[in-house]
Amino acid sequence: MTAPAPASVHVPLARAAILAVGSEMLTASKIDTNSLFITGELNALGIDVVFKSVVGDDRDELTAAVRAAVARVPLVICCGGLGPTDDDLTREVVAEVLGRALHEDPTITERLRARFQTRFKREMPEINRRQAMVPEGAVVLENPTGSAPGLWIDHQDGARGGDGGGTVLLLPGPPRELKPMMAALVAGPLRARAAGVVLLRQVIKVAGRIESEVEEQMRPLYARWREWPVPIEPTILAALGQIELHLSARHASADVAAATLRDATTDVLAVLGADVFSTDGSSLEAVVGQRLAERGLTIALAESCTGGLLASRLTDVPGSSRYVERGVVTYSNRAKTELLGVPEAMIAAHGAVSEPVAEAMAAGVRARASVDVGIGVTGIAGPDGGSAEKPVGTVAIAVALPESSPEARQVRLFRFAGEREQVKFQASQAALDMLRRLLPPA
Ligand code: ATP
Ligand code: MG
Repeated sequence: MTAPAPASVHVPLARAAILAVGSEMLTASKIDTNSLFITGELNALGIDVVFKSVVGDDRDELTAAVRAAVARVPLVICCGGLGPTDDDLTREVVAEVLGRALHEDPTITERLRARFQTRFKREMPEINRRQAMVPEGAVVLENPTGSAPGLWIDHQDGARGGDGGGTVLLLPGPPRELKPMMAALVAGPLRARAAGVVLLRQVIKVAGRIESEVEEQMRPLYARWREWPVPIEPTILAALGQIELHLSARHASADVAAATLRDATTDVLAVLGADVFSTDGSSLEAVVGQRLAERGLTIALAESCTGGLLASRLTDVPGSSRYVERGVVTYSNRAKTELLGVPEAMIAAHGAVSEPVAEAMAAGVRARASVDVGIGVTGIAGPDGGSAEKPVGTVAIAVALPESSPEARQVRLFRFAGEREQVKFQASQAALDMLRRLLPPA
């Protein structure tokens, strides 16, 4: 990609806005994913996205959005609406807002014609010449995977109220075209224009805690981190069955930012201990898989209320065939007896959702599959089937380990909140977390 000629004066790009253009993203069926990708790329350069909008294919709306964005931040990235049809307005609207005339670039027209010949074996429709229109002073960004080129426009002309101008980027909407173009910009011209600061982020995942409790324990750390030479910005996010702490640090040197994040992570581990299951973004199933693989252990699952979710999550991890031997969905009492050897009398005495049955399921699948680890999950996912004694969300989970291990058997009774799907997920999460805690890092 040709780098834009350096502008004589330019503002370091530290704050950005994204405009996702396309009416389809204002319907209930299509979501703007490009802005997430763009944000990730910008953050890696230390550029913050301070706001973003989804704008329909409407000249007035788009004009207002571009005008507002250009007035507020030095970097505005528009994606979509560069196509050849009448509803593709981005190029025209941006040119108008910045007061630039549009001229056809014959090199682009030729490239478009050639592309039509080689790809579609036909003449280019004349409407595609729209895609060759370039605002005065813009730099053309090649699009090797599609037809519409991107555009880089620097403005020094007071569009931001006279405080030094900025840059507007026009990128194509299709993700497969946008991604390589954005990556090339980040590797080249955008990096050169960024404020020279990198932003590094670390994700710490926690299981078995509630958000407010974690927040309370983290507060003294937040206060301490604010005093550090490179301050840490923390965010806490509660997801189903886990909590994520996102820590970010920015500095001119990536090494310094990384070292600061390492120190902060050490602080978190000192406070939250074994409740932290990952500091590198890995999922709970990946962490459990790694622990099994390290020890050369194999596993089999006996699932009732999770209906195979536990097996599904474990096998989402590449390489899981090294440790997953089998999973059985024993939904009915008959299946529990036939396939796992759970005594009928035990089910009759304690109920299918009970600690003894979960234990018998874990031990049964472990023995029948001749593996090291067996897990049994049995519960009431709802909305029906609950009772006063065992309300919806009651789940018994058992783990059976080799007899030689100090905790060969473990069983717990949980009461999860939420709807069916959420109960199922939390049950799978709790089962994985029980096993993780029984297999501490080597
Ligand atoms: P084209 O030359 O293909 O018309 P374009 O730049 O005009 O490109 P659009 O017509 O706006 O792009 O979108 C083309 C495709 O890309 C559509 O399938 C659209 O849904 C998808 N798309 C557009 N914007 C986004 C976005 N922000 N996130 C995810 N997908 C998007
Ligand atoms: Mg289009």
